[in-house]
This record gives sequence, structure tokens and C-alpha cells, in this order.
Amino acid sequence: MTEVFDVAIIGAGPVGSTLATLLARAGLSTIVLERDIDVYALPRAAHFDAETARSFRDLGVWNPNTEWTISQRGMDFLSADGDLLLRMTVPDLIEGEVTSSNMFHQPSMDRALRAAAVGAGADVRTGHEVVDLNESGPEAVTLTVRGMDGDENTVTARWVVGCCGARSFARRAIGVGNEDLAFDEPWLVLDLLVDGSNPDELRTLQVCDPGRPYTVVPMPLPRRRYEFMLLPGESAEDVSDPGRIDALLAPHFPDGGCRIERAAVYTFHGLIAERWRGASNGRVLLAGDAAHQMPPFPGQGMCSGVRDAVNLAWKLRAVCAGANADLLDTYQAERSAHVRTIIEAAVGFGRVICTLDPAVASMRNEGMLAARAAGSGDTGGAPMPVLGRSDALVEGAGFVSTDGTHDGTSLDALHAGRWMIVAEPHVDVPEALAKRLDAVVVRAGVDGAARRQLRHCDSDLVIVRPDRIVFGWGGDGLNALDAFVRRYLAN
Ligand SMILES: Cc1cc2nc3c(=O)[nH]c(=O)nc-3n(C[C@H](O)[C@H](O)[C@H](O)COP(=O)(O)OP(=O)(O)OC[C@H]3O[C@@H](n4cnc5c(N)ncnc54)[C@H](O)[C@@H]3O)c2cc1C
Repeated sequence: MTEVFDVAIIGAGPVGSTLATLLARAGLSTIVLERDIDVYALPRAAHFDAETARSFRDLGVWNPNTEWTISQRGMDFLSADGDLLLRMTVPDLIEGEVTSSNMFHQPSMDRALRAAAVGAGADVRTGHEVVDLNESGPEAVTLTVRGMDGDENTVTARWVVGCCGARSFARRAIGVGNEDLAFDEPWLVLDLLVDGSNPDELRTLQVCDPGRPYTVVPMPLPRRRYEFMLLPGESAEDVSDPGRIDALLAPHFPDGGCRIERAAVYTFHGLIAERWRGASNGRVLLAGDAAHQMPPFPGQGMCSGVRDAVNLAWKLRAVCAGANADLLDTYQAERSAHVRTIIEAAVGFGRVICTLDPAVASMRNEGMLAARAAGSGDTGGAPMPVLGRSDALVEGAGFVSTDGTHDGTSLDALHAGRWMIVAEPHVDVPEALAKRLDAVVVRAGVDGAARRQLRHCDSDLVIVRPDRIVFGWGGDGLNALDAFVRRYLAN
């Protein structure tokens, strides 16, 4: 029997579950097909940033007091001798209420996200692997799905989003390759259960030891993560041997006090899918690791996937409600430029950390120590890039809206996945345009998040998209919004 849905999502990792929740909440019939029964068991994401925290808060799966997260203050790069080469410090809160750097236990988050998708009304089917994808019809895509018992049936959807991870079935099925940003380094990743407490100020440590680079990642107790680079000639089997793991950990736990919870060897890559939308009938899209992969040093892989989901959700909603489907082409245009900048930064981190030549490492250390001594060694990290250019944005906009309270309420809660126009009390907001977009209009007070938003854009009116991205501001912003409505929402 064939069932027909508005959207079928392949994969219930963090990206698929986020997208499913946003779509089902908006009333779209949404099915999620997930091969495995339980969430991914091996150690992966450990950090998410403030923008992702706002998305998770909006989905109701996280707040700063959630037991399986903990806030940290940044990252230190150390030499093999323990010299501080670079300190990146983030504030605990950025002008709002969410913590800016959060360490977490991914299986707990993944389970909460799946539960949110089910709670929102998505039909989440675990133990269902998608084994074939047929996009030959103009109006829909048909998926062949195999259950745990080996039985196959078909599911038809107007739109399919492949959130099926690094080895994406969907990407291969639509014949899309990856652009390789030339980074391939194997690392052993260990999640430990440790005795004792965490230091007062938590920081991730990147120990740039040319003898063997390693990373120490604070997590909510009792967990802590250690990651060790494999040296030339070492295989995954070599370093996974329990005796080798004990030898690697011994200097860090001379008195014992740690047990291995999970271990895996990964090769970290920098990759971007060449197309994020299928060329056949244009009804298959890619998101998350299916569309891009990066080394984990800045902790941005999953965060980037969640940004994809939030970007795509409002566009799919609009298209299912009758908007011009060309709107979906703005998805890759915006997101791939953004994630490329982050992947390049992650690869840059990787090249600094993964240096194995002692002479090169020594020169690197001298340069970094000199920069620190000259006062330029401590940073807050590079600012997030803006989204790539598209017709769904004014050039120069494309950054995240301001977080915080407005008139005693969270501005994000007022915004609630709609268009939002923030304006001075005296400024006219074109009523027909606001009505056409079902936009919430927020009048700035003397202070608070709406006031900060106007100040940030130096304008008396700011337009924010449903994905909390600033579309534009002032008269130019209103003109562009009018053009956007005529181009995409005319029906
Ligand atoms: C060591 C390491 C550390 C990391 N640290 C961080 C970090 O600190 N911060 C961060 O933001 N990111 C980090 N990442 C990256 C992060 O883990 C990934 O980007 C993220 O998990 C990807 O989510 P996803 O939903 O796109 O894919 P996945 O989580 O891989 O989910 C894909 C899902 O699709 C399912 N699936 C696959 N094929 C099919 C099919 N044919 N049919 C049905 N279902 C299918 C799979 O079973 C899986 O559940 C790290 C990664 C690694 C390896």
C-alpha cells in the first residue's frame, strides 16, 4: 500500500528530527524513515553554539538547566610543554538568555529531538531503511522502504529531504558528488566516565603536540572526552586495542579513575555536496552531514545541520502552502556559502593542531606565542559568517536576529517561526504586506531585545524571517520584501 505525505525525511539524526518537528508543528504531514531502532551510539557531537541553543530551546528540548548540558567558556591551544598558544574565550551569555558554548551528551539530545518530532505529530518510523528513491514523476517522489523483517513497501511524498548522514543514501541516489576541501585525518575518539569534578571554568584543550596531537573536551559529569590523532602507519585496529588505549590515557589518569564508555576511530573530512537539490524533478533536498562534513575542532558540524533544517523548514512550509518552488533554490545559495566558510575555518584549525613535523611545530609555536605577547593572541573566535546571497535576503543582511526579552517575554517566543517586523513605535508598517506574510509586528521599547535589534541594524525598522535570520531593514528592506512577496508568494 502506498502512503502519500507532504514531506518524507530520510534519517532521524539531530538534523532530520529538527526538521520533522518544525514541519509537523506547522501542520505538514511528515514522515521520518530511520534505518536504526535507537539513536547513534558512538561518540560524536559534544558542543553546540548559541544559535543552535535558540533552535533547541524553541523545539522545547533544551534550556540552560538541562541536566545533560553544561556551559563552557572557550578553547585553549597548548604546546606540548603546556604553553598557552591561543585562548579563545566566549561570554557565558551573548546579549540574551542562551549560553553561548554548550557541551552535551549527543544520545540524550538525539532522543529528546526524536520525542519532539513524535510529539509534534510527525510519523517517525524506526527500523525502516530507505533502499530506493524514484523521482521520475513530476509531482512526487516514491521511496521504497525495507522494514526489519525484510518486507518492503513504498511511501510517496511531495518533497523528500535526505538527512541520512555522511554516507548519505539520498545524495548517491540523486547522483550528487562531494567537493573535497582536502582534509583527511584519522582520530581516535574516547568518551570516558571519570571520577572527580570539573574545573570551575571549563575549556576545551587542543594540545598541539607534534608527538601526538590530542584534544580534551569537558562534558557534563561524569563524562569527559579525549581525542587522539593517529600517527602515520597506525591503523584503526592498532589504536583501538585496549592495551594501546590504556597507554594513551595513563599520563592523564596516573591514579586511575576513568572508564571507557564509548570509543570510535573517525577520519575527519572537509566536504560539501555539489548540489543540495536533485536535478531530476527538484523534489529531493539534502541537509546536515548529507550535504557537508567538517573536522570537529570548532564543534560546528551538527550546528550547521540544524541551521540547514531551520532554513529549509520555512521554505518547504511556504512551498507546500503554494509559494513558487524556486524559493527552494535559495536554500543552497544561502547555506552552502555559510557552511563553506565554517569548514574552511575548521580545516584551518585542523592544520594548526595536526602538525607532526617538530620543526614546523616549533615555528608555529613561536609565531603564536609572539602574537599572544603582542596582545593579539586572545580572541572571541571569528564572528559567524552571513548567509550566502539570495533573493530571500537583502545583500549585507543574512545574520541571526537578536536574542533576549522584550517587554518581559522572550522575543523568540513572540516571533515563534513567523515573519517578524521590529519597528519604532512611530514608524508605519505596511499593513497589507504584514498581513500577506502573517507577520508579527513588535514595537521596540526603551530597552530590551527589540531595541537592541534596531540599534544593531542602525534602523527604525528591521525585518526578520521565520528562521530568525535578518532579511533586511529600513525602506530598502521593505522594498525588497515587497519584491520577495511578488516573486515567490504571488499565488
Ligand atoms: C568525533 C566527532 C565529533 C563531533 N563533534 C561535534 C560537535 O562538537 N558539534 C557539532 O555541532 N558537531 C559535531 N560533530 C558532527 C556531528 O556529529 C554531525 O554533524 C551530526 O551528528 C550530523 O547529524 P545528521 O542528522 O546530519 O546525520 P546523522 O546523525 O548521521 O543521522 C543520519 C541518520 O540517518 C539514518 N540513515 C542513514 N541512511 C538511511 C537510510 N537509507 N534509510 C533510513 N535511515 C537512514 C542513520 O541511521 C542516522 O540515524 C562531530 C562529529 C564527530 C565524528
